[in-house]
Amino acid sequence: MTRVAVVGLGAMGSRIARRLAECGHDVVGWNRTPRDSGVPLVASPHVAAAHGDIVITMLADPSALEAVTDAVLAGLHGTWIEMSTVGPDAIERLAARTASLVDAPVLGSIGEAENGTLTIFAGGDVAPVRPLLGELGTVLEVGPVGSGAAAKLVANATLFGALAALGESVALGRALGLDDATLFEVLASTPLAAQAERRRPVLQGEASPPRFPVRLARKDARLILEHGDFGVVAAALRALEAADADADYTAMLERNGG
Ligand code: NAP
Repeated sequence: MTRVAVVGLGAMGSRIARRLAECGHDVVGWNRTPRDSGVPLVASPHVAAAHGDIVITMLADPSALEAVTDAVLAGLHGTWIEMSTVGPDAIERLAARTASLVDAPVLGSIGEAENGTLTIFAGGDVAPVRPLLGELGTVLEVGPVGSGAAAKLVANATLFGALAALGESVALGRALGLDDATLFEVLASTPLAAQAERRRPVLQGEASPPRFPVRLARKDARLILEHGDFGVVAAALRALEAADADADYTAMLERNGG
């Protein structure tokens, strides 16, 4: 049993906290807006960090991470596992302030967080925390601190690119008069086959419950674009900017394909 504190009990953090508690760990949590998340709450990120052998942060973006950093560092006596998607620059700033850092952002959403089937891109000295991370999903060790954040941006670049291409391909097929049955048969024989099948309900107008909201996807696209002039991701960001901030990010398909 490990003493763990989770700072940030939003959609992902609350599920990670509950999953670790279900696995038998002694888990407490802190959230800026107090909310019932199924684990005992503590009064501050400082108290949270002081509770744990491990403190996990799962926050919205770099500024949210910045907002808790001083307090977490003041209480930290174990390892800090930073799991938010904040990009390598934020991790570099954090690493300059503590050597006890593993960056471990995740691929997968709330279902995968609940089931412990996330893919975790872990950078730094991962070995001591690998058993704990293994309860949350498959751990890929990708290099020194900061590599996890880098790997996550790469993974999301592929996701945004695939969805942008899929949305455009569907729009093209419809503009050229292909009926949907034919269109999806054609897509099934292309490199986008898996995504076309998975996203077909949304592309045909079915509402998708918000799992990964547009506002967070925009943040990720902007983090990627800080590292280069990537045209495909820029196009995906335009589609995300046209969508409702609170909708699921697959709403970006509607702009091109719907
Ligand atoms: P979320 O539900 O919006 O939760 C965001 C969390 O950040 C909340 O606990 C929020 O607190 C906290 N927060 C925001 N600003 C803050 C501040 N200034 N100070 C302190 N706390 C602050 O987001 P999520 O879906 O859990 O995502 C968390 C991270 O995981 C993000 O980086 C996201 O990109 C990444 N991620 C998400 C998914 C997904 O499918 N949702 C998948 C992979 C990765 P309040 O409750 O007080 O607002």
